Amino acid sequence: MTDKPKVGVYICHCGINISSTVDVEAVEEFALKLPSVKVARTYSYMCSDPGQALIKEDIKEQGLNRIVVASCSPRMHEPTFRKAIQEAGLNPYFLEMANIREQCSWVHEETEEATAKAKKLITASVAKVRLLEALEAKEVDAEPAALVIGAGIAGIQAALDIADAGFKTYLVEKTPSVGGRMAQLDKTFPTLDCSACILTPKMVDCASHPNIELLSYSEVEEIGGYIGNFDVKVRKKARYVDFDKCTGCGECAAECRVANRIPNEFDQGMGKRSAIYLPFPQAVPAKYTIDPENCLYLSKGKCGKSPKCQDVCGAEAINFEQEDEIVEFKVGAIIVATGFDPFDASRKPEYGYDDYPNVITGMEMERLVSASGPTGGKVMISNGEEEIEPKEIAFIKCVGSRDESVGNEYCSRVCCMYTAKQAHLIRDKLPDANIRIYYMDVRAFGKGYEEFYDRVRRENVRYIRGNPSEIFKRGNKLVVKAENTLTSTPVEDEVDMVVLGVGLEPRAEMRKVMDLLRLSQSPDKFFLEAHPKLRPVDTATDGVFLAGCCQGPKDIPDTVAQAKGAASSALIPLARGKVTIDAQVAEVNEATCRGCGFCVEICPYTAIEMTTVNRFGHEVEVARVNEALCKGCGSCSAACLSDSIQPKSFRDRQILPQIAALGVLK
Ligand code: SF4
Ligand code: SF4
Ligand code: SF4
Ligand code: SF4
Repeated sequence: MTDKPKVGVYICHCGINISSTVDVEAVEEFALKLPSVKVARTYSYMCSDPGQALIKEDIKEQGLNRIVVASCSPRMHEPTFRKAIQEAGLNPYFLEMANIREQCSWVHEETEEATAKAKKLITASVAKVRLLEALEAKEVDAEPAALVIGAGIAGIQAALDIADAGFKTYLVEKTPSVGGRMAQLDKTFPTLDCSACILTPKMVDCASHPNIELLSYSEVEEIGGYIGNFDVKVRKKARYVDFDKCTGCGECAAECRVANRIPNEFDQGMGKRSAIYLPFPQAVPAKYTIDPENCLYLSKGKCGKSPKCQDVCGAEAINFEQEDEIVEFKVGAIIVATGFDPFDASRKPEYGYDDYPNVITGMEMERLVSASGPTGGKVMISNGEEEIEPKEIAFIKCVGSRDESVGNEYCSRVCCMYTAKQAHLIRDKLPDANIRIYYMDVRAFGKGYEEFYDRVRRENVRYIRGNPSEIFKRGNKLVVKAENTLTSTPVEDEVDMVVLGVGLEPRAEMRKVMDLLRLSQSPDKFFLEAHPKLRPVDTATDGVFLAGCCQGPKDIPDTVAQAKGAASSALIPLARGKVTIDAQVAEVNEATCRGCGFCVEICPYTAIEMTTVNRFGHEVEVARVNEALCKGCGSCSAACLSDSIQPKSFRDRQILPQIAALGVLK
């Protein structure tokens, strides 16, 4: 840049967020005296249209060529101001933001001190902005296809929306069927729609959609590349059943040597299945799968049954020689919809889940009340001798949620309502049962939820405020020990059955997805979104979006809404056919790079590779940055012993004067 810097400094009041603590007029007067500063102004909301117009007019009329905006964090409005100065004809990277809100007015009370600090921050920004260089963002083509990981309701909805918009969508599900947790539910609150009835049409649609390639019983193994150009490798696990030949008749399962002896995961282990199985009657695809751990032929080399599954399959679909298959493809965007795990009730041993068969979880109750469940919808317990209907039933809410002792401080958001729903369903089946619900609070926040909660209370379901401390056995009864915190009286309630309203936890295997996609976790251990309010479906990895409970506990309406949001965000690069790559990326000085590879090791975004170049007639190894992957974080720069790699706009020659202006360097 040969032009002499002419700097404009724009100081924002941010309503009174800044101006109630910082004397903005004094800062304006001060800024005017800084080297190269031609204009300094204050304004109530610099990010507003009139605020931006001020900057644009000055650029045009006063010939400004560098801009400092002293306002909020660049995380919030850097793109806003870059766009504004670009519209006025300046290179968008000739901008520096001085954060006098989060780093100044919000953290100080004394006006004098805060004003002095604001002046320093602006001095430093002016020192840097004068040294910035013009940068050009690049555009690369985006592959017109998407990957959705997980085929519960979130993944199904996202895949359908993207496919309906006309783009190829790969929907990868690790279990043999799509449907996820929602398929296990009986009815949905508060409308009491049959969960399967509203879900199965979507399951069928996603399997038959011409733009969706469903990869069930498959897992993503590798993901490389970047937004617009991800390279994906998926392992399709061997089903040992020829997908094209299997008619779903079920003859094989009936003849299985271990027929009805394997705990059925879909029924929470309460029902039984064969080693060759369909997870549930409405499973999509309706194709059988052999579970290699439980099939005697595959695990022990000998089945011992004649005829065995293979002999009775009229379609000759069973193939014990089948092997895993690797499928590779390219996509422009990825949606993660890997769902949740129910809290493991064994981690609250005081509730006796491992000790007493009649202490069950909410998910188990879901299968018990379901007409397609292991008891055909009958709620029964064992009294040691026979199966009987329970007369006294207790629910306990917040099991594994809002509980520091198990590391989960968050509210799971659905258990208040699913316990109310299950109480209602039991009331229908057992009109004379005494049903009580132990609670800390009732959180009925959704549309129609409060009304449903009122309805359940009118159905003679008793709510007792108190978190039980213990469940123990007395004769044939379970005793729930608690304190009624409304009356301050101790309670020892003798019941036949206890339902633990377990909460939602991040999936046990989420670490693998995190590593594949370089995602982060929030303190609750669910996936971290890019911004909790303004970018709730984005992640720190461009082109990767979150949908459903993998981001945090959600009910079905919120899950579907978020899936639709993720789909529309993923569609942006696909529809544009191009993605813009930010120009503030690291650059290697190949003349001084020593080829040590420290930067490759340290880069959290795997953006650096070693390559060979010819230096004065010798082949030497040097680092090279993949600009599409680099986030400009600067870690490499800190690692490089020869100062050979530095992010543009954060080069030593730009940030050292900035630091010096703060008075830190003399
Ligand atoms: Fe069942 Fe035997 Fe067939 Fe395995 S080989 S699925 S154990 S019948
Ligand atoms: Fe507890 Fe209700 Fe929150 Fe579940 S939704 S954790 S039961 S307050
Ligand atoms: Fe990697 Fe950060 Fe360096 Fe870019 S700036 S190459 S992301 S370490
Ligand atoms: Fe080159 Fe520096 Fe990277 Fe070493 S750390 S390879 S010297 S850029």
